Amino acid sequence: MPAYKASIRDIQFVLHEMLEIEQHYARLPGGEGLGRETIDAMISEVARFMERVVAPLNRSGDEEGCHWSPEGVRTPAGFKEAYDQYYESGFGSIATDEAYGGQGLPPSLRTVLSEMVGAANSSFSMYPGLTAGAIAAIQDHGSEEQKQAYLPKMNEGVWSGTMCLTESHCGTDLGLLRTKAEPLGDGSYAITGEKIFISAGEHDLTENIIHLVLARLPDAPAGTKGISLFIVPKLAIDEQGNVGDNNGVQCASLEHKMGIKASATCVMAFENARGVLLGEPNKGLRAMFTMMNHARLATGMQGMALGVLSFQGALEYAKERLQMRSLTGPKAPDKPADPIIVHPDVRRMLLTQKVIAEGSRAMAGYCSMISDLALRLPETEEGKHAEAQLELLTPICKAFMTDLGSEACNLGVQVFGGHGYIREQGMEQMIRDGRVLQIYEGANGIQALDLLGRKVLADGGARLKGFIGRIEALCEEHRGDEELKEFIEPLERLHPEWVGLVSEIMERALQNPDEAGAASYDFLSYSGYVSFAYFFAWSAAVAKRKLREGSDEAAFYEAKLLTARFYVRRILPRTRALVETMRSSASDLMDLDAEHFSF
Ligand SMILES: Cc1cc2nc3c(=O)[nH]c(=O)nc-3n(C[C@H](O)[C@H](O)[C@H](O)COP(=O)(O)OP(=O)(O)OC[C@H]3O[C@@H](n4cnc5c(N)ncnc54)[C@H](O)[C@@H]3O)c2cc1C
Repeated sequence: MPAYKASIRDIQFVLHEMLEIEQHYARLPGGEGLGRETIDAMISEVARFMERVVAPLNRSGDEEGCHWSPEGVRTPAGFKEAYDQYYESGFGSIATDEAYGGQGLPPSLRTVLSEMVGAANSSFSMYPGLTAGAIAAIQDHGSEEQKQAYLPKMNEGVWSGTMCLTESHCGTDLGLLRTKAEPLGDGSYAITGEKIFISAGEHDLTENIIHLVLARLPDAPAGTKGISLFIVPKLAIDEQGNVGDNNGVQCASLEHKMGIKASATCVMAFENARGVLLGEPNKGLRAMFTMMNHARLATGMQGMALGVLSFQGALEYAKERLQMRSLTGPKAPDKPADPIIVHPDVRRMLLTQKVIAEGSRAMAGYCSMISDLALRLPETEEGKHAEAQLELLTPICKAFMTDLGSEACNLGVQVFGGHGYIREQGMEQMIRDGRVLQIYEGANGIQALDLLGRKVLADGGARLKGFIGRIEALCEEHRGDEELKEFIEPLERLHPEWVGLVSEIMERALQNPDEAGAASYDFLSYSGYVSFAYFFAWSAAVAKRKLREGSDEAAFYEAKLLTARFYVRRILPRTRALVETMRSSASDLMDLDAEHFSF
């Protein structure tokens, strides 16, 4: 397993130089007074902790896995100590409400932490990640009494959280769920049903586990309109907040899975477990969406994080591994062969990993900045505009960044050759750990439908045009700058094409709804590549300005320009194939009868 080293300089580039985060914080409730020194000190502290405490448990956690017994689930050695330190350091409550034990800092600071914890140890990141999502849902939809009862202990890390949606017969289609909630007459409910695939459903890290469970009330309408959300603690909690006996919540077994083996993925049985309603009856999905949107951005970041770790491992290896000579003559004549980084095809792989890491980091940074605005200034025009952009970018972030993260991890194995395929080097673990990111939190195909259907076609492209406004502003600012032309011109061509594709798909979908389904995945990928082109053009503009100002970090900024150039010339052309496939008819997919797929 490569030793994780946080990408501090590049994180600072995105935060300080692209996003100008200090100015953003200066006008954000909770961000006042956060100067560069404080931000950088926090980044360094988080980096140190992740590198020294969390990353060393990545390989051992994968090998040991979690263990089930009737008494509960044991996480791998070292997890409990690291988890306690994580919360003692305040990492679990950075951006949560101060009134309930949080620190009230801007949510975007959590993004930096998400990248680092995800790269250091994907399995470990699940436990605080689920708790953060549950906190967000209770914060947004809970009564004052519920917030007082649950949030302080969750912020402290003494209690953790889960989200319990999936049942064996219902994953994507939550309208099918069967778990029941019977009123007990005292304002609480008896929850009965079985949930599968529940991350952090049972473990030995905390005193109690607060499950957020989707269930149906007795007279609930069928489908998604009849789903309510309940807070169901594992151990009963009395009025003073003390935990007592088991509340009818059992982990029936652990799922045996391909990766994230140190994350306990549980089958959970609820047997007349006492719970309370969170939010309104039959509006559970709305409340759960707070948690899911939080989790979707976090999942995109996990994809980026694994890509970063894989890139770090591959880069180090490519500088050391000696095989063959460079096509243009020996580069290390004193050695028996050249390091493989001299070969163009190895560079193709490394640079692809690099643009995936840096493009994703910029996109995640931008999304976290607009989520600050949407969450902290919701009533302002700026906050509403940010919310609309976030709705558009969330499915792209989730699906595109996990697809590319998976591509990066595959390339990482390829750079190592056969040594990547065997377990010893740890490169294959990243493929296994990362594969689920394309599946959970709404499979990527569902993200594509969400993007095209709900976020683009449903509002006639209004949200998309909002984001394109940002792209146009960047183009406007740098139009005529010969040195930035190679980055700005493609954007000037692509953003009208993006809008045009929406009109084309809309027209075809009006005749045949399958046309939208057939175009959706290509549309999402296209949207991802164009968004990345915007972030690379933005980073190139910053780098060029720094070079013109005579920065003493010329090599860093030159590398930024060359990386952006690689993206525009070698990755962005993937949009051409996507346009062709998007324009092709749905009949290519639908004409073959299901029974004739195979003979
Ligand atoms: C490791 C792990 C951890 C998980 N953690 C949690 C958790 O903490 N809590 C929780 O509630 N769940 C959790 N899940 C469940 C996860 O969210 C689901 O697996 C996921 O939502 C997909 O549901 P499914 O597996 O039933 O697949 P299905 O819904 O059966 O889908 C199968 C395939 O069909 C596609 N598909 C389905 N419907 C459509 C459609 N209309 N159009 C196009 N394509 C479609 C899907 O994209 C997918 O590719 C976890 C799963 C795993 C593997």
